[in-house]
Amino acid sequence: MSSVASQQTIEVNGGFADFRAKAGALARQGVHPRAVYWKEPQAEGANLSMFSLVDKMGADTQRPTPQVAPRPVTVTPEFLRLAEAVAHSNSHGKWDLLYRLLYRLTFENKRLLEIFTDDDVKAALDIQKKIKREIHKIHAFVRFELVKDENEPSGERYVAWMKTDHPCLKLAAPFFKRRFGDRSFSIFTPFESAHWNLKELTFTEGMEFAPNRGESMDELWKSYYKSTYNPARINISMMKKELPVRYWNSLPEAEIIRDLIQTSPDRLRKMALNQNVRAEPPVTHDLNELGAALKSCTACPLYKTATHSVMGEGPREARVMIIGEQPGDTEDLEGRPFRGPAGQLLDRVMDEIGFDRKLVYVTNAVKHFKWKPVAGSKTRLHQRASGSEMHACKPWLEREIEAVKPDVIVCLGATAAQAIFGRICKISEFKDRVITDNPYAPNVLVSYHPSAILRAPDEAEKASMEDSISRSLELALALTEKN
Ligand code: URA
Repeated sequence: MSSVASQQTIEVNGGFADFRAKAGALARQGVHPRAVYWKEPQAEGANLSMFSLVDKMGADTQRPTPQVAPRPVTVTPEFLRLAEAVAHSNSHGKWDLLYRLLYRLTFENKRLLEIFTDDDVKAALDIQKKIKREIHKIHAFVRFELVKDENEPSGERYVAWMKTDHPCLKLAAPFFKRRFGDRSFSIFTPFESAHWNLKELTFTEGMEFAPNRGESMDELWKSYYKSTYNPARINISMMKKELPVRYWNSLPEAEIIRDLIQTSPDRLRKMALNQNVRAEPPVTHDLNELGAALKSCTACPLYKTATHSVMGEGPREARVMIIGEQPGDTEDLEGRPFRGPAGQLLDRVMDEIGFDRKLVYVTNAVKHFKWKPVAGSKTRLHQRASGSEMHACKPWLEREIEAVKPDVIVCLGATAAQAIFGRICKISEFKDRVITDNPYAPNVLVSYHPSAILRAPDEAEKASMEDSISRSLELALALTEKN
């Protein structure tokens, strides 16, 4: 193994994972960095000036490469993090830099990363800093637009396009999955695109330019921004820093910032007078205060056709929280959860197993009744809430959970399970299982919704579903007695 004449060309066509596999194999054989030409797939027929990047080990390319004995290659988590960031950058010669670092860590100095003045270390750390900043920008400045999508069970999908400087969406996208996991979304950037379908996050090629933006979501973002903008805390230089002009084409609210700043004093006065509409729950663990605030929630359109917002009910000390789907006709009229036929069925099942409902906090994933009229009748037909309606309600449910801090959450039905697990759930996948790694409560159980029993086609199915709810509630009770 010697000069540039015997240089191997290694193509990285599967991103970081591919590089890791190929670089690991080369380093284990002791292949010197000067003996490798790392080629990006799109660099097909690329110019040979790339070779100048290959030889950064302080030698001309004709010089023989040193020979070292093969050895096992192990890397620290710190190097892996660094390498992952560099790999997701747009930096020219990144594979070469990374392989050089790997080789030098293996054969020269395993504490190389501590030498911040080393050219290679410094270059990699600078790139890592840029990528961290880029990820932060993506998290802060992606703005979604709601579009119709017939392939989605909810019939809708959130989409966003953002101009990025680095191909690091793979590192940024899991944040959106955690944050907006209960809605389908796609994020497009010039380099790559991420898609979440409530089950898995996938990536496809990028999109160079922003698709036409639907005006409706712009309006929504602007009103969201207006509602969250706090004139009492305005810091113009920080805003300029945080909203670089090149991001503005993906930020509908950018055009209203000047207006907002100019009207700040007026808005300050209005804020002091306390506005009477809200989209987010107040920061309180007082359930009465929360219930009072919920009455003025306008976060989604459901408040317009509902009679009451329906807050959960039960003691704040409750160890078990039962979460249903949304209020039905009776609950909407009374303003209390689980009062109609489904509530009566729940009461009966609880009675039978000796579980006192007064000890339980009972609530719903969605706080307003969604219905449509039936022609020629007074019946209000229950409609399933959409992903965006569920999402709008989630902060209220989260606040209730924070206030009650239950040991056990029992989700009745798929909507409640979706709110707690952030993805579409099948009841059968949870049968008689206690989930112990959910962030909302130490124990989570999922069972059928009582309304599903009321709708079940035959007695045998009704009995089996009722048994399942009863077993889940018994289990919940037992879990609280154990603690
Ligand atoms: N169904 C629910 O999910 N919740 C209620 O409160 C009533 C019916």
